[in-house]
Amino acid sequence: MKEACGVVGIVAPGRDVAHLCYDALYALQHRGQESAGMATFQNQQITVVKDNGLVSHVFAETTLRALAGAFVIGHTRYSTSGSANWTAAQPVYRSAGSSGFAIAHNGNLTNTAELADKAGIQVTSMLSDSDLVAELLARYVEDGHSLSEALENVLSIAEGAFSMVILEADAVHAVRDPFGFRPLCLGRLGSVESPEGWVVASESPALDVVGAHFVREIAPGEMVTITTEGVTSVQLLEPASDKQKLCIFEFVYFARPDTYLMGHQVHTTRRRMGELLAGQSHVAADIVMGVPDGGVPAAEGYAKASGIPFGYGLVKNRYIGRTFIAPDQNKRAASVRRKFNPLRENIEGQRLIVVDDSIVRGTTTRALVKMLRDAGAAEVHLRISSPPFMWPCYFGIDTPSRDDLLAANNSIAEMNDFVGSDTLEFITLENLRAAIQLDGECCDACLTGKYPAPTPVALGASGGRW
Ligand code: SF4
Repeated sequence: MKEACGVVGIVAPGRDVAHLCYDALYALQHRGQESAGMATFQNQQITVVKDNGLVSHVFAETTLRALAGAFVIGHTRYSTSGSANWTAAQPVYRSAGSSGFAIAHNGNLTNTAELADKAGIQVTSMLSDSDLVAELLARYVEDGHSLSEALENVLSIAEGAFSMVILEADAVHAVRDPFGFRPLCLGRLGSVESPEGWVVASESPALDVVGAHFVREIAPGEMVTITTEGVTSVQLLEPASDKQKLCIFEFVYFARPDTYLMGHQVHTTRRRMGELLAGQSHVAADIVMGVPDGGVPAAEGYAKASGIPFGYGLVKNRYIGRTFIAPDQNKRAASVRRKFNPLRENIEGQRLIVVDDSIVRGTTTRALVKMLRDAGAAEVHLRISSPPFMWPCYFGIDTPSRDDLLAANNSIAEMNDFVGSDTLEFITLENLRAAIQLDGECCDACLTGKYPAPTPVALGASGGRW
């Protein structure tokens, strides 16, 4: 039950919603590369197509043509080993009610054992938290409740992170947890005067790619319901606090640079992170380079603020997934070499400032530093645009247990030794918050240990896994 995914929901009568959903999922491919799926509704029937693999592998033109109707939801998924199997692909379908329903979930519930226990459902490794929600919803629907009532009943006792889209006969619902951990936004196809359809998606570029206009973010605890008549909204769940807790790592790493979150373009916030990081200390160097892609905007900002020229030192193979989301350690280490190659003539004899977005286990960073030194770098000064990653995430991001988090078990000097850099510095939490220009509206628990919502394990020395 470890996911951080992308979700899409579209209602657009007369449009080819399967192709629109395909394009939107393609724009969200960075949020999950292990499986993709879609569910459409037509002729009183829900059809689900899903499989392991990238969006382009799962859907052929013939498949998309067969997915007709005006209603669709879609999902891209990542996971860790043990759950990277077909049964964990989404949307999850249940046949309860007149035509059944399907759900697609970005997030991670933290009280699954309690929810399953209450309902008398046996927890197995094959049962994801999304399966569990579907099962609980199905029971309410079979008892004669509407799906909206079932959602209110089930989600009001669910804890953790969920940005969820749900398809039923003639409607798509989109709901966000009371903290707003994961992003979710609403867009409109067509003009204000004559809308041609509505789209919900994890990130705004998924709206752009289908030609939808960004309308607004879904509020924490809000549920919007889209039908062919338009959009309605209810505050399904009481917001958890006066300030939402959007994941700060959406700004640092997860979201696309062209995504807008809480009114801020992510790329701009990343550049500001680099500017503020440069102001923290001075080091003499010849080039500032970013580790592609996540470190590049912050490197631009660093170069601008420090006056040291920006340059390129690494070429990235764009056809390899993020190392952070590779399913196991061996594959992760090997994928660093497949993913990056140094630009020797830019590096040889140069004192480098290398900006990256985060250090998690440290193995990727260590391999990168070695690669740069082997290519002739005279000095490697690492600058990280997030503070030390000290605590596991329980809200939809797959992170190692505390035992495997480099910063949880080492001082900065020890981390510097481990990764092999000449100097190592992290942005301060104050500067990260200043770069994002939000005041308390983000979760930063993996940096501070201050979890805004209950966690599924006692936070002892190990931090546990969820
Ligand atoms: S714990 Fe960290 S990664 Fe998880 S939601 Fe909070 S800020 Fe994001």
